[in-house]
Amino acid sequence: MKLSTIFRPAVLFMAALMCICFTGCGKTPGASQTQIVLGTVVTVQVYGRQSQEALDGAVEAAMDRARELEQIFSVNIDSSEINYVNQNAAKAPVHVSDDFYTVLERSLYFARLTEGAFDPTLGKLIRLWGIGTDDARVPEPEEIAPLTGRRDYEHVLLDEQAHTVFFENDGFSLDLGAIAKGYAADEMKELLQEDYHITSALLNLGGNIITIGNRPDGKPWTLGIADPSCPQPEEDPAVTLQVTDLTFVTSGDYQRYYEAPDGTRYHHILDGSTGYPADSGLSSVTIITQCSMDADALSTASFVLGQEKAQKLLQSINGVEAVFIDTQDQITATDGIRDQLQ
Ligand code: AMP
Ligand code: MG
Repeated sequence: MKLSTIFRPAVLFMAALMCICFTGCGKTPGASQTQIVLGTVVTVQVYGRQSQEALDGAVEAAMDRARELEQIFSVNIDSSEINYVNQNAAKAPVHVSDDFYTVLERSLYFARLTEGAFDPTLGKLIRLWGIGTDDARVPEPEEIAPLTGRRDYEHVLLDEQAHTVFFENDGFSLDLGAIAKGYAADEMKELLQEDYHITSALLNLGGNIITIGNRPDGKPWTLGIADPSCPQPEEDPAVTLQVTDLTFVTSGDYQRYYEAPDGTRYHHILDGSTGYPADSGLSSVTIITQCSMDADALSTASFVLGQEKAQKLLQSINGVEAVFIDTQDQITATDGIRDQLQ
């Protein structure tokens, strides 16, 4: 079995555990569940004065919502909506669900904002590399070349009235893996707050974390940013940070990768302009803000852009902070968060 397929569930499970330990809420009444959804380990923990039955129901409903979104966004489920769109949208406009439309519209916004550093139309390139699947390999340069420098995000047409998606050519496909987990986190949070009146919760979607309120003891949640230089990065936080009602999304080169027979590691965040894993000098970027969908897109884009360009971009967006860890293990943070790192 290839390394990338062995390590992922184990490491992500550790990620889930790390955050549970950090919260220090083990003895407080509440409900929690951990399941594999959206290709990752998802943990939902809720706390409150509701009955145990109500808390269990809230967790179950949040997991159901995650599974519903998996059926829409997973390219690994044959019958998913994204696969249907990829197979048909170059032939004629395809009517899509509200969830799909919302995420694709925001994806195209971020693709334009980041000039393709975040690019939802890299599906064919991502499939070619297969990183994180049993088919991972290093493609030949001739296979990569036709899929680079294309800016296909400019050729996805959305019709708001008809609620349709149309591809202006058939040379590309969508992959929303860099944003869908963030959207799922926002949706699960909203459902817990509005339908179940949860005021204290922690949701971890494979390292994408979103919190509701404070811990049940009234203190902020303490979350750790993995140290990419450690053999088990998710077990060893490089820094910790206290957060209330915020999301915390990391893109890192240690999260998913393929190790070639010669020992070279190829990680899963691709630079559409070169066709290869992004090589911007960063090992991880963590975005801290309120909207997890935006944080997810921005963490991927920032990883591709590199620290300098990413910092410039993030400065132009209100309420977004970031922690960068470069390949030399140097940690840098944006002004608004620097003093809060421990
Ligand atoms: P994340 O872990 O959020 O940074 O997302 C990485 C995942 O998004 C990969 O596993 C691919 O499915 C997809 N992806 C890889 N590179 C890019 C990119 N430059 N823009 C958008 N999606 C990407
Ligand atoms: Mg992302």
